[in-house]
This record gives sequence, structure tokens and C-alpha cells, in this order.
Amino acid sequence: MQYDTIVIGGGHNGLAAATLLAKAGQSVLVLEKGAQPGGAVGVTRFKDGGSVPRYAHSTIALGRQEISDLGLSRHGLTGREAPLSTLLLSDDGRHVYLDGPSVAYADGAAHPDAAGFTALRDRLSRFADKLAPLVAAPPPQLEGGDWREIVGLAGLAFGIRRLGAVDSREFMRVLLSNVYDTVLDEMDDSPLAALLGVDAVLGGRQGPRAPGTVLTLLQRLRNGGNRIVPKGGMATVVDAFAEAASAAGVTIRCKTGVTAILTEDDRATGVETEEGERITCGRVLSSLDPMTTIRLTGIGQFDAEDVRRVRNIRTRGAAAKVNLSLSAMPSFTGVSDKQASGRILTAQGLGDLELTYNAVKYGEMPETPIMEIVLPGRRDAEMGATLSAIVQYVPYDLQGGWTDSAKKTLESKVLDRLEGFAPGLTASVQEAEVLTPVDIETETGAPGGHWHHGELIADQMLMLRPVPGMDRYEMPVSGMYLCGASTHPGGDVTGLPGCNAARQVLKGLKKRAAA
Ligand SMILES: Cc1cc2nc3c(=O)[nH]c(=O)nc-3n(C[C@H](O)[C@H](O)[C@H](O)COP(=O)(O)OP(=O)(O)OC[C@H]3O[C@@H](n4cnc5c(N)ncnc54)[C@H](O)[C@@H]3O)c2cc1C
Repeated sequence: MQYDTIVIGGGHNGLAAATLLAKAGQSVLVLEKGAQPGGAVGVTRFKDGGSVPRYAHSTIALGRQEISDLGLSRHGLTGREAPLSTLLLSDDGRHVYLDGPSVAYADGAAHPDAAGFTALRDRLSRFADKLAPLVAAPPPQLEGGDWREIVGLAGLAFGIRRLGAVDSREFMRVLLSNVYDTVLDEMDDSPLAALLGVDAVLGGRQGPRAPGTVLTLLQRLRNGGNRIVPKGGMATVVDAFAEAASAAGVTIRCKTGVTAILTEDDRATGVETEEGERITCGRVLSSLDPMTTIRLTGIGQFDAEDVRRVRNIRTRGAAAKVNLSLSAMPSFTGVSDKQASGRILTAQGLGDLELTYNAVKYGEMPETPIMEIVLPGRRDAEMGATLSAIVQYVPYDLQGGWTDSAKKTLESKVLDRLEGFAPGLTASVQEAEVLTPVDIETETGAPGGHWHHGELIADQMLMLRPVPGMDRYEMPVSGMYLCGASTHPGGDVTGLPGCNAARQVLKGLKKRAAA
């Protein structure tokens, strides 16, 4: 046996899992098909020297525990970086600016819904903190489970009771409801109302009226809901995960795609690479989605019912990325440079989000794209005049397919929308990169190009993620585990699926050693 563990995929979750296993004394090899580790946390470098986050452009609710367990702060990611401010662009020019607790119009005038919004956000953040332990640990077992888990669940129930009668009732009421009604019960529809909607649905294929979108919002409001970009941008994030892995003794091999998972007597024994090399190991952790992992192993190794369930996971993505290299930093009308240095949203309201979502259901391109934008050069001059836009509600399964002309149409729609807020931006474009969900799937292997490697919604969360029976990271084939975004608690740059999977492996080994 050449390694104790082989991890397939060097995205940040594969690296996180590898790091914890290596820290526990295992010999670990990470095999990554791309030229660099990082997966969907990468960088696009433009011809003029500017750079932009290729896909993910901030971390969301990254936890102190994972930073500490993985040793990321020694490699440039401390989690103490100042959270990004938020600018909400409004078609009527009355943009809204949120920085820390402050919520006001960008010109400094008071916003009529500021108090209502703050009260709602604070209440939801309190709920999110109660749920945080559930998100950060493997999902609870419906039967069995050791005493620590039972104590943990009791603690969760106690924590909810401690919210007090009014809040704990409200917690139960909103938990599985939709973000649209929950927000509009408290305030008028506006770009400010849309902010909580965007946080609930970004990266997924649900409209804000879908039941369960409050639950996805709560997941993102953990740890203060902070969006963080360290000095050096997302490249620092990738480097921190990769360097922490190397420092723990992990071997990372890039340009080495895995084409098969080898088994013997129903047990994973190694992998075969694109070059035909066979590498043996004691266990395999796959950060790929369960269907790809099953295919790599051979469908015949799995129960037909398991395969059916995995096939039924909803994985069609609905987020695209448009990256621009510009001759000059864009200037948004009525906004200071500082106000444009965090994240910038273009949604006009929850109604706007829901209407835009409608198109995706029918495989159509949105008329007016909804975007989350970051200008990396505003925080880090080295990145130059570039713009990073996540475009929400762009269908994987576009009618007619993602031809070059369809991509050009998406680019034009994005530029038209941006031009309305930042006149002159279109003329300043030097290079444009349009990455559709199909491109994302091709490049990273994420099924459907999906941000979470599978829709994150109540019936595909917790012990139902990715499917019952694989929810504790262990696959039905012995010695084989999942450790990527397809598992609990899903995508975003949190490292949690990878850390949880590694902890489960170590727990299993300890149990076996004690038996
Ligand atoms: C457009 C877009 C924007 C996003 N923006 C944000 C954001 O701003 N903030 C945020 O928190 N999250 C964001 N996300 C989500 C986040 O990037 C993902 O949830 C996260 O990267 C998942 O990490 P992972 O390690 O599980 O998988 P991935 O990052 O997908 O990594 C999987 C790795 O496996 C490799 N691989 C695939 N097949 C093989 C094979 N056969 N052999 C070897 N290696 C293989 C791939 O090359 C890849 O490196 C975004 C996602 C997308 C698509």
C-alpha cells in the first residue's frame, strides 16, 4: 500500500480533508486533474497582467474552528480580515450602502427600512447561530449515534429554547418557509429587501418563494454572515489551503486526473490515473459528486436503489461567471470608491429575483441579469482594473445550448446592465471571459456546473445530503468516502465538508481500534 489515503480532487474541500488526515499521522496523496489546486477557488490572469477570481470571489461565513484546525492563519488566511461592505445598486439612483451595522442610502440619508431590516437580520442571525453547530458537524443520525451526538442535539434544542418564547416560536415558523414572505412581512420590497433573498439563493436554482430558502439563508448568516477576502485576494485563500496541506505532509499532484477507483472484495484499494498509473491506498476520499464517484468505481459495485437515488439528485446549476479586464476602474454613478470596494448587488427586490428566476425554469436567459459584483483592484491595486460578476439565474440547460453566440448574448446583457450603473464601462472592456454552468462543469467536474455540486434545499440537506445512506460521508463500498460540496453542509468556501469527512474517517478508525 503506497498511501494511507488518496483524495480525489484538489479543491479546497479535498485539501481540507487531506490536511486533517495528514495531521492525524496518515500518509496522504491528493490527485488533482487541473494544473493547480483550488477547484472553483482559482484565479484568471488577463493578458495585461490584471487578475480576477475565476469563480468564487469571497469566502462566506468561514469558521474560526476550521481556520484553526487546518492552520490556515499561518498561511495568510486569518478570518480576522475586515468583512466586505455591501452596495445595493438601485435603478432610481438611490443606492444603499451597508458597512458593519450601518444601513443607509449611499448619499448618507437615512433609509426608511433600516431599522426593520436590522431587526430582521439580527433575529435571523441569532437563529443562524443556534443552527451553526448542526452545520459544522456531520448530520445527526436518525437512529443509533453515540452519546456525544445525542448530547449535541439536546444542546441544540436547549439553545433554541433559550431564544425565549417569542423567538423560539418564530424560529420554528420561519425555518422551512420562504425568504420572500419572511422578508416582505417586515418591510417593503426594495434592493435592501433583496439582499437577504440573494444571500438565500445565490448559487442555487431556487427562487426566493421556494420553501426552505430561509434555511439556506440561515446557513449563510452563521459567523456573522461575513464575506471575507484576505490580502492577495482569492489566490491567498487557495494558497492557504494548499500550503497548510503541504505543511501537514500531504503530497499534492496536479495534472493527474483519476479515471478509476480500484476495488477488491468490495473495498476501495486505490485509483488509476489518466496516464494508466495505479496507486494503492487504504482508503479513497472523493471530493467529486456521488454519481461521478460511482461511475469511477463501476456502477455494478453499488446497490441499484443507491444508484437510483444518486441519479435523482438535482444538480443543474444556475450561476455563471463573467470576468472583465478593463482599461480603467469603473465609476458607479453616485457611489464613492470606498463604497464600491466591497460586494455590489444589482437585484432590485425580491420580486425582481423571483421574476428573473422564472426564465431559468424554462431554460431561458434572464432578460436583466442579477449580479453580485466585486472589483478586486479596489482592495488590492495589484489586481488591476478588473471586474468579477457572479450572474445568478443563468440556466445550465439553455434552450439551443451554450453556443458562442449565446455566450456573446449573455456578455452583452451583463454589459448593458453594468453600463446603466457605470456609464462608459462597456467602452473600457479589454477582455471578457464568460463562464457558463456548462463551462464550470467541464472545467471543475461540478455536475451541472452547480455551485454546491447539487441543489442545497431542504430535501437535499442535512441527513438527506447527498442521499440517505451516504450522509455520513461514507459510501456503501468499504474504505470509500465523499468529502466535497455535494455532502453536508454543501458548497461555499467553508472547508466544512472536507473537515467533517476527515473527522468521520478518524472517528471510524478510532472505533475500530477500540473494538
Ligand atoms: C460561479 C461560481 C461562483 C462561486 N462563488 C463563490 C463565492 O463567491 N463564495 C463562496 O464561498 N463560494 C462560491 N462558489 C462555490 C464554491 O466555489 C464551491 O462550493 C467550492 O469551491 C466547492 O469546493 P470543493 O472542493 O468541494 O469542489 P471544487 O472546488 O469543485 O473542486 C473539485 C476539484 O476536483 C477536481 N477534479 C474533478 N474531477 C477530477 C478527477 N477525475 N480527478 C482529479 N481531480 C478532479 C477539479 O479539477 C477541482 O479542482 C462559487 C461557485 C461557482 C461555480
